[in-house]
Amino acid sequence: MRPVKIKLEPKIWIESLNKLPWKSPKMIGGALAVLLALGGGGYYLNTTAPAAYVVINGETVGIVESVINGEKLLEQVLEEEGAPVGEVAKTHDQIEYTTARIDNGFTPLTKEELKGKLSFFIEAVELKIADHPMFTLASQAEADKLLKAYEEMYVKEDENNKLTAVTFEEEVEIQDVEALPEAITTVAEALEVLKQGNVQKEEYVVEENDSWWLIARKNDLKTVEVLAANPGATLDTIIKPGEKIAIEKVSPYLTVVFEGTKTATETIPFDVETKVDNKLASGTSKVTKAGADGEKVVTYSYVQKNDKIVTKTIVDEKVTKEAVSQVVTKGPQRVQVASASRGSGLVPALVRPYGGYVSSYYGYRGSEFHTGIDYAGSSGDPFVAAAAGTVVAAGRQGNYGNCILVDHGNGIQTRYAHASKILVKVGQSVSQGETIGLVGSTGRSTGSHLHFEIIVNGDTVNPANYVR
Ligand SMILES: [Zn+2]
Repeated sequence: MRPVKIKLEPKIWIESLNKLPWKSPKMIGGALAVLLALGGGGYYLNTTAPAAYVVINGETVGIVESVINGEKLLEQVLEEEGAPVGEVAKTHDQIEYTTARIDNGFTPLTKEELKGKLSFFIEAVELKIADHPMFTLASQAEADKLLKAYEEMYVKEDENNKLTAVTFEEEVEIQDVEALPEAITTVAEALEVLKQGNVQKEEYVVEENDSWWLIARKNDLKTVEVLAANPGATLDTIIKPGEKIAIEKVSPYLTVVFEGTKTATETIPFDVETKVDNKLASGTSKVTKAGADGEKVVTYSYVQKNDKIVTKTIVDEKVTKEAVSQVVTKGPQRVQVASASRGSGLVPALVRPYGGYVSSYYGYRGSEFHTGIDYAGSSGDPFVAAAAGTVVAAGRQGNYGNCILVDHGNGIQTRYAHASKILVKVGQSVSQGETIGLVGSTGRSTGSHLHFEIIVNGDTVNPANYVR
């Protein structure tokens, strides 16, 4: 497509112009200046000056001092129109010049007048995700920038995190389009849309024994997200079975699949050994040897989809510092007085429910909040109740898979998820250290592990503060 067409009378000029490449208007301009200077000789009159009519789509719209001036004016207009999106605009309008001698004192065509006579477009690209047109961007480079920025929101390569493959789960197409300058989206605006994802409102009917927290878990959301979808609601807002509340589910427009290898330094938590010393007063204890966490350098290969790690395989593990066990010396056991711990609201002394290594701590994993601690282990290994209590839930529960909830009184509960087998029933009393289930990988789980939560007055707390 040739945006600018120059028409000149003498045939010889046109022939020489036709030999020039059309893609370099500067060269054409240069050649033209020379030709005009030669051609103009001998014809000057005092009352007229050489000039050119500007003809757009066959209509004469004004006069410019010369074809070169007209070209320059057009160039400026195209640059200004494209400037907001960092490109030079183009036009399909046909622009021609007719050279003539015109009476002195004419008013040349202004930039604004020329703008008003033309329609513009940008040679842009359209980004389609799964056949759905998402964005019109100024160029292929901008589309690349957008995809790169989106990827780097989740994984940024560095010397400790090497990517071997980056693909998209959805089909991504980028194709050339002609677009109005105002239809172009910036990378920042498009990134914001991708970040937000596709928000879909749903209705949720409150079930028996539901809480805000449980509804969030069932819908794979955070409690704050469920509350945010229901203006005015707080954790104290009472919900009744049958009541309808709003749920906002967000699904990403674009899913990036990363494959890579990551090396990280991880803490090896120290163990606690307990010794009994009859010289100590009953019920007292003291640390006779301080423990110290160890450290290991772990290299693992992973597959990650957006912010979620889908698989994680340890390929190398080097202990760089051994953990030192803590020794606690206790006085002889005393008989617990039931009322002594009542109403205190404190978490009772808990034992670790399973011996596997910690594969994931409590807290944010990417944008997702991990509400418990994961102990990696072998399917079928027994795990125990962290403290004495009553089983209040035992069965399949969504992402948790086979799951046990034990109530310890005083607002304290512990949860054990992804079990391969549940060995207790609702209503059963369990004692501390009693086997209640077998480790497995049921529900939303990758690999056998025990997901363990400590819940204080309905909210999870960091188990690492209570058990090792
Ligand atoms: Zn977990």
